[in-house]
Amino acid sequence: MSGSALYETFARIPLAFDHGEGAWLVTDTGERYLDFAAGIAVNSLGHGHPHLVAALTEQARKLWHVSNLYEIPGQSRLGERLAAATFADKVFFTNSGAEALECAIKTARRYQYVNGHPERYRIITFEGAFHGRTLATIAAGGQQKYLEGFGPKVEGFDQVPFADVDAAEKAITPETAAMLVEPVQGEGGIRTFPTPALKRLRELCDRHGLLLIFDEVQCGIGRTGKLFAYEWAGVAPDLMAIAKGIGGGFPVGACLATAAAAAGMTAGVHGTTFGGNPLAMAVGNAVLDVVLEDGFLDEVARKALLFKQGLAGIADEFPEVVEEIRGTGLMLGLKCAMPNVKVNQALRGQHLLAVPAGDNVIRLLPPLNVTDDEIREGLNRIHAAAAGLAGAVAAAVE
Ligand SMILES: *Cc1c(COP(=O)(O)O)cnc(C)c1O
Repeated sequence: MSGSALYETFARIPLAFDHGEGAWLVTDTGERYLDFAAGIAVNSLGHGHPHLVAALTEQARKLWHVSNLYEIPGQSRLGERLAAATFADKVFFTNSGAEALECAIKTARRYQYVNGHPERYRIITFEGAFHGRTLATIAAGGQQKYLEGFGPKVEGFDQVPFADVDAAEKAITPETAAMLVEPVQGEGGIRTFPTPALKRLRELCDRHGLLLIFDEVQCGIGRTGKLFAYEWAGVAPDLMAIAKGIGGGFPVGACLATAAAAAGMTAGVHGTTFGGNPLAMAVGNAVLDVVLEDGFLDEVARKALLFKQGLAGIADEFPEVVEEIRGTGLMLGLKCAMPNVKVNQALRGQHLLAVPAGDNVIRLLPPLNVTDDEIREGLNRIHAAAAGLAGAVAAAVE
C-alpha cells in the first residue's frame, strides 16, 4: 500500500502548485511552469482571471446553493445566453462532462419514447471516443481499458470505426435512437471528424429519425477559434454536451437541446442536486462575458495560427521526435515519433505543461487568452525539448 489515503486511480506527477496567474503556474517551492495543459482544457481563461475571481467571490458573499426547487436567476441567464449563441433552445446544467453526456443520452432515448418509439434506445458512437467515466459513458466510449472489470457493459451502444459514415449507416437498426460524436476527439488524440462526414451523419440522422448528439466537452467554448467546433462544419446537432471550458476551472457542465429533442424531458423525469448552482452559474456567465466579447474568438484563431506555424517548424526540424501537427485553434496535438510520455517528460523538463492523449499524441491546450509572447516562449521550450530528445536519439544511433 502506498502512503496516500487517496485512490490510486491517478498516476500523479509529483508537482504541487500553489498559485497561478494567466498561463503560469507556480509550485509550492516557487518554480514557474508555462501551463499549456490548462487543467485539460478547463482553465479556458488561465488562472486567477480577475473577472472570474470577482464573479465567484461576489456570488460567494451572497448565496452558494438553494437547490433546483427554486428559481436560480444566474442559471436562467446562462441558459438563455447559451441558447442564443447556439442551435439550442433548452439547457440542463450539470457538474461534469460525463453528467452532461448522461443527460444527452437520456434526452435522446426519451425523445424516441415520447414520439412513439420506445424500442429506439441504441446509440451509435465512434472508435477513439471519450465521453466520461460513468457506467453509461464508458459504454459509449467503448474503450476496453475503461470497461474492464466493471461488470456488464451498459446496453445500447454500438461502435463503428472513426469517421466511417458507411459503417455508421450499416449500424442503424430499428432500435437506433441517436448518433454521438466529438467534432474533434480530445482524449482520442486530437482527431478532427471531417466536415463531409459530419454533414453525412446529419443527413443520415434526418433520414432515419435519429438525433445527432455532439460531445463538445473538450472542443467547445472557443477552443477551436469558434464558440463551438461544430460551427466550422456548418452542421448543427439536436443535442450537445459541454463542460470543461465553460466553468474556467469551476465544475460546470451542460446539455444543450433543441425544443423538439427536449420535449420529453418533463417535470420530474431528470434532476440534479448541485447542477446549475449559483456559484457555478456566476462563473459560467463570467466566462461567457469574456469569450463572447467582440474579437475574442478572432484573437484565438490568430494566435492559434502563430502557434501552429511554429509547431510545424519544430516538426520539420525534428521528424525523429514529432511526426505531425494536428488540430485547430488552441486544441493542437503533436503526433509523436517516439513514446509520447517521453516527449511530455522532456517538455516538463523545460517547465512546460502539456497532456498526453491516445494515438501517441501530446495535447497542447493553452488558455484561450494566452499572449503572443507566451506562445513564443512555449515554442522556445518545445523546441528545446525536441532538440534534447533528437540529440539523445542521434547519440544512441552512434
Ligand atoms: C473530459 C471529457 C468528458 C468527461 O468529462 P468529465 O467532466 O471528466 O466527466 C467527456 N467528453 C469529452 C470529449 C471530454 O473531453
